[in-house]
Amino acid sequence: QLNFTLLEIRELDVNYGGIKALKNINLKIDKGEVVTLIGANGAGKTTTLRAISKIVNPQSGDIIYSGRNITRRQTHELVKLGIAHCPEGRRVLARQTVYDNLLLGAYIRSNQAEIKADIQRQFELFPRLAQRRNQLAGTLSGGEQQMLAIARALMSKPQLLLLDEPSLGLAPAIVREIFSIIENLRATGVTILLVEQNANLALQIADRGYVLEAGAITLTGAASALISDERVKKAYLG
Ligand code: ATP
Repeated sequence: QLNFTLLEIRELDVNYGGIKALKNINLKIDKGEVVTLIGANGAGKTTTLRAISKIVNPQSGDIIYSGRNITRRQTHELVKLGIAHCPEGRRVLARQTVYDNLLLGAYIRSNQAEIKADIQRQFELFPRLAQRRNQLAGTLSGGEQQMLAIARALMSKPQLLLLDEPSLGLAPAIVREIFSIIENLRATGVTILLVEQNANLALQIADRGYVLEAGAITLTGAASALISDERVKKAYLG
């Protein structure tokens, strides 16, 4: 499984009406990698994740996952194939308990015993959620809701996790906690495509990164190289 390409995006274009949100994107993720997409507001990071999980339809280009062309597959099929999307803004079900939100993440699965065991696994990974298993999700803190959103995405047993802005709007201490959980996740073998505005943090945990500017990839390389690249420093690392 050395250098097995899990996801490949080829010459992808996405338009919103007249707006060209993505222009000729090429990107590759090997199995087991953490790859980050960094860029300013509106650069097209979220759109890239949406195109992979087919929340938006590409104008042209191809998306290859595990050797299959998934460009024309629908979102629910992609979940079955092992792609989970943890969206920006968390979107947990506020009036449902933590436990029920997790159950919902397993909607494509049917083995109840395995689902229960996996919920226990999420509680080990996210001890704060275990303490609050019967609490309504809407009463959790922002950081806990982010943890729940990630745990819920993991309940579909993904091979590829698309993670959109997990640090958005959260205090530094909870951001550190979430990033250390992402590092633990990597150890379990999940491949991660991480979108972050906090380029510094993202590049610290990623293997490789891509820089998006106005819908196009302008720079790519090892995270360790990007973090010391003058252009990246100037534009994204403050
Ligand atoms: P952010 O971090 O703010 O989400 P981003 O890098 O993820 O930024 P996108 O959300 O992917 O950027 O947006 C890329 C471009 O597409 C922007 O110009 C944005 O205004 C535009 N856009 C995004 N969603 C829509 C939409 N539903 N309709 C029209 N234009 C959109």
